[in-house]
Amino acid sequence: MLLIHIKKLLVIIVQLILLFFIMFYCLKTSAIESHPVWLQESLDKADKLNDKNPHLAHEFVKNLKKNHSNKFSDFDFAAIYSRLATYQYYFGNFDESLTLISKSKKYMPVLKGKTGVEILLTYGSVLDAQGSADAAITVFHQAIDLAKSAQNNELISESYNVLAAIYAVNHNDIEALKYFNKAYILIAASKNELKMAYLKLNMANSYTYIKDFKKAILLQNEAIDYFKSNEYFYDEMLTIESQATTYLFAKNYDKALLSYQKVLELSKSFNDQNSQLFAFSGLSKVFLKKEEYEKSFLYWSKADELIYKVNSPYSYSSHLLIKAKLAIIKNKIKKATTAIKEAEVYLSKLDKDKNVNLFVTYFDIKIDIAMSRNDFKSAYLLLKKSSELYDNYHDVIRENTRSKYKIMFDTEQAELKNQLLEKDKKLAATELENSSHKNQIQNLVIIIAVLFIIILVYLFHKQIKTSKKLNRLANTDELTQLANRRYSFYYAERALKQSQLTAQNFSIIIFDIDHFKYVNDTFGHLAGDNVLIAVAKVASGYIREKDVLGRVGGEEFLAVLSGASSAQAYVIAQRIKLAIEDLSLEYDNRVIKVTASFGIAQFSEKQNDFVSLFQHADEYLYKAKNKGRNCIVSEFT
Ligand code: GH3
Ligand code: MG
Ligand code: MG
Repeated sequence: MLLIHIKKLLVIIVQLILLFFIMFYCLKTSAIESHPVWLQESLDKADKLNDKNPHLAHEFVKNLKKNHSNKFSDFDFAAIYSRLATYQYYFGNFDESLTLISKSKKYMPVLKGKTGVEILLTYGSVLDAQGSADAAITVFHQAIDLAKSAQNNELISESYNVLAAIYAVNHNDIEALKYFNKAYILIAASKNELKMAYLKLNMANSYTYIKDFKKAILLQNEAIDYFKSNEYFYDEMLTIESQATTYLFAKNYDKALLSYQKVLELSKSFNDQNSQLFAFSGLSKVFLKKEEYEKSFLYWSKADELIYKVNSPYSYSSHLLIKAKLAIIKNKIKKATTAIKEAEVYLSKLDKDKNVNLFVTYFDIKIDIAMSRNDFKSAYLLLKKSSELYDNYHDVIRENTRSKYKIMFDTEQAELKNQLLEKDKKLAATELENSSHKNQIQNLVIIIAVLFIIILVYLFHKQIKTSKKLNRLANTDELTQLANRRYSFYYAERALKQSQLTAQNFSIIIFDIDHFKYVNDTFGHLAGDNVLIAVAKVASGYIREKDVLGRVGGEEFLAVLSGASSAQAYVIAQRIKLAIEDLSLEYDNRVIKVTASFGIAQFSEKQNDFVSLFQHADEYLYKAKNKGRNCIVSEFT
């Protein structure tokens, strides 16, 4: 059990070391792309502001550049210009955006990392907005490769997302669905709701192009809900723009009208002219469809005031086509012809197959003009061209492929959802496993702590035992196991003080074996030792538990009797004396008989310390020896 825990602990330690190395490696590799902390924090703030409102982010980054450019490295400059380029793209200022992109590239000749991917994404988006879809697609593919080499899933999914969106706009639905799917998988795995909302916005555009308006509106509504409830009002506006277009395509003009109005309202609050232009153009288109020509013209005029701000052949063409259409309605054929000729300049920059609606409208207007001039032949030829284009677009096979992929994508999404649920379950299971692992570790810690305490207690106990033993050894006479001289004196002094305090009697007996030298000489030293042991044992029998008998010399003993008077001590001495007399020790088939002499002293005014008390008793013992031995001498005798 313990071994298993130790093994697990070792595994954990090894894992920690590995983790440390991985973190170290990551820090080292990411260090190439890192900004100083204060700048990184500012850039993160800019990104957050951008999520809410790119205008705020733009102001913020501009100030950052103005106030701190002396502290920037080349890498910092690249990041700053890249962001500014992105914001300008959002505002529809494509030329400005391109200028900023080239500035950014000057500071980062070899694109790398997040900034590198950002530069490519903005660059591709501008190219697309300017009608160069194919070039944009190439750039987006480069962005994907760079994001992959930077191993940044967020950037990879973002690149997939924009690539899919451009394929969708350019009617390559198969590629669009393929990349939306890839982005969807990554974003769903990252559980980033904001990115998921962006993806839904883009996917909705794709669904609009394949005329699944219901699905498009559903996705747009989901995205709008998310943006609104999380206060991403700018993105909410962009999504409503997208939804307005969907409603227009779906010929749901009332809903489209409401959406464009909402965009107008929001764009004013953001002071975003690009979106205002979008709203004006949209309203103009809706009213044209609703045959409310005055209103249509009114909004077209408002759009006309802003159109010079964008540099988009699509926007110009579309704007000029409405102008032409309105002119025809007012029967101003010459004006319509001029507008159409102007539009043709921009239309020539656009791919017919990829802008079918625009070109069909163009042919319609041309037909109207031809008809108004009674030029039926031209009108017929134009109609033929227009329907060819339209038929080509609505190719049956293509429609089938489209719907096939749509179904595939829908089911894949459903499957993905299931997979995610499974993943969630697995995650929950792993969490459970983790928590049981945690419990195991906790148990292990408890076990170790308990073991530690047990060992401590054992060591402590052993220590006490040893010190007790050592104490005993230091205080005990080895031969007789009585208290030795040192301890006997120490004890006697303490007991005397105690008796003084409690005003009790205190007496001592000293006794010495008579002619012990003779015993040794006659029977040998070993026999002498046995005599000492026997005397000690027999004398101990007459000493109370609370008192102490000690060996204070070779064959000299001291009894410390707390609470005893000299008379009481005399009684005890007498008993000991008789007991020693009675002792018969057999040695070498001979019997050894010994006697002892006793001196007794009681604590008094005169002898009020142990040393003088001991001397006093010793004097009596001396007297006893002189009296002929085997007798007791005290103050009574
Ligand atoms: P007295 O009656 O005057 O006390 O005569 P004594 O022979 O007993 O006294 P003395 O002081 O002349 O001799 C004491 C002897 O005790 C001397 C010594 O060798 C012996 N002795 C002291 N310690 C030990 C001991 O540990 N073992 C043995 N066997 N003999 C001891
Ligand atoms: Mg002696
Ligand atoms: Mg002696």
